[in-house]
Order: sequence, then structure tokens, then C-alpha cells
Amino acid sequence: MKIIVLIKQVPDTTNVSINPDTNTLMREGVESIINPFDMYAIEEALRLKERLNGEPETVVLSMGPPQVETALREALSMGIDKAVLLTDRKFAGSDTLATSYTLAAAIKKLDDYSLVLCGKQAIDGDTAQVGPGVATWLDLPIATYIRKIEEIDKEKILVERLMDMGYDRISLKLPALLTVVKELNEPRLPSLRGKLKAKKAEIINWGFEDLGIEEDMIGLDGSPTYVVKIFSPPPKQGGEKFHGNPEDSAKKIFEYLTSTKII
Ligand SMILES: Cc1cc2nc3c(=O)[nH]c(=O)nc-3n(C[C@H](O)[C@H](O)[C@H](O)COP(=O)(O)OP(=O)(O)OC[C@H]3O[C@@H](n4cnc5c(N)ncnc54)[C@H](O)[C@@H]3O)c2cc1C
Repeated sequence: MKIIVLIKQVPDTTNVSINPDTNTLMREGVESIINPFDMYAIEEALRLKERLNGEPETVVLSMGPPQVETALREALSMGIDKAVLLTDRKFAGSDTLATSYTLAAAIKKLDDYSLVLCGKQAIDGDTAQVGPGVATWLDLPIATYIRKIEEIDKEKILVERLMDMGYDRISLKLPALLTVVKELNEPRLPSLRGKLKAKKAEIINWGFEDLGIEEDMIGLDGSPTYVVKIFSPPPKQGGEKFHGNPEDSAKKIFEYLTSTKII
């Protein structure tokens, strides 16, 4: 039985610059961190392992450039058992479809998994598509915005899904995929012993050849979407203010809306 956590390395700020020529993020000089929502997924995997008497093996999986190794080592230092990095020039330029296809192939290769945990979204790409994408490629039941895991056994899992007004309780057959929110737990800090162990740990590296996947489904060629333009929306203008008693103001607003053809 394995619990696989998908983690993405992201810039440590939401205020990154965009390269106007390529419409991609300019990562130079910006420190990287594990996507904050993925930290809750890591913590929950560790708690589930404790709850299940240490039985499941916990694995972190990430696709990205070689420097993502730092993020994987951080997860290992928190107590995760194994780390896998998908890195290959052929994966570069992947959109969410190609990313989720590649991650799904690696999950299949890892085999014998019961649960896949993801953050609800990445703070840079922000699409929240990768979790549902992976679940679709693997034909897994999925529940998003999970704030609590109530029960788990070998066959099923009972979870609470955060909603605008309250929560849903959902039971899923395992294997399943969950995306998680910050209400789930408080991620632990790595211990000194954990840090030392993680420093020496082996990171498994898999590239295109290891996954047995279709070349035209990955990287730029396998990405049907691309960023046409990125821009900051113009700041909100002050608007028009109408003073006076409610009746006069209502008339003025009506005249304004009709004269400007808003209604
Ligand atoms: C239209 C479009 C075009 C793009 N083009 C490019 C491009 O040309 N070049 C480029 O470099 N990027 C590109 N990207 C960005 C890239 O597709 C995304 O960063 C990546 O697919 C993840 O999507 P996201 O950041 O929105 O993650 P989300 O879907 O918001 O992430 C949700 C969760 O999925 C998991 N996850 C996400 N990404 C990974 C990962 N890499 N490894 C492991 N787990 C992960 C994490 O658990 C995360 O919390 C593009 C994105 C879009 C929307």
C-alpha cells in the first residue's frame, strides 16, 4: 500500500515577473518553496501512515527541472519515505494536460498505490487542473477541497469536502485521489535527524525513456493550450458618486445608466 503525494516547486512569492516575449515566469533570483497546499498533503500522508501503524509507504512525486530535488529533500526531511523526480528536456513546456499525463504514467509505474494526494492548486499556475487531470488519466475517484479525513481502511476513505456553506461528507473507494486545503492540518517542521537523513537519501530520477509514454503527448508538442498574453488588469477607477436623498440619487443613477447605455 502506497500513499503518493504530488508536489510542485513554486516561486516563494505571488509577485513574480513575467517574461513579455515568452509569457513564462521569470524564476531567476526568486527563492523556491514547496507549493504551500502540497505541504498539507505531505503532512496528511505522514499522519495517515501513523494512523495505519506505519504500514503505507509514503512517496513524493514531482515533475520539474533538476533543482526540484531541493523540494523533494524537504519532504523527505519531514518523514516521507521515498522521492521520485520526473525530469527530462522532453517534459519542458508541458501544459496541465501533458503534466497530468506524465505524472499519471509515473504513478502507474509506482504501482500498488491506495491514495494520491495533491494540493488544491499551485500558487503560480493556479489552474487547479492537475489533480483532476491525473485522476482522469488513471480513472480514479476524486474528491477536491478536502479539509478532513475522517476514516480510512484498505477499501475506502471517508472525507469532508469544504463548501461555501458548510461541508460535504464523501465516501470513496480506494484507490482514489484527493486535493486538499489548508484547513486539513498544520504541517510539521523537519527534525534535525530528518534533515540529516534527507541530505543523504537517494532521489529516484525518471525521464521519458523510463515511463513508456507517447512522445507526442508530453512537453510542448503534447500541450494543446499555450499562454497567448499575460497582463495585470487595469486598477479599478474611482467610479461615479451620487449625493443627495435616496429618491434623487436613484433618479440620477437611472439617468446615468441609461445615458451611458449600461441599461
Ligand atoms: C495554458 C497554459 C500553458 C502553459 N504553458 C507552459 C509552458 O509553456 N511552459 C511551462 O513551463 N509551463 C507552462 N504552463 C504551466 C504548467 O502547465 C503548469 O505549471 C503545470 O501544468 C501545473 O499546473 P498548475 O501550476 O496550474 O498546477 P495546479 O493544477 O494548480 O496544481 C494542483 C496540484 O497538482 C500538483 N502538481 C501540479 N504541478 C505539478 C508538478 N509539476 N509535479 C507534481 N505535482 C504537481 C500539486 O499537488 C498541486 O498542488 C502552462 C499553463 C497553462 C495553463
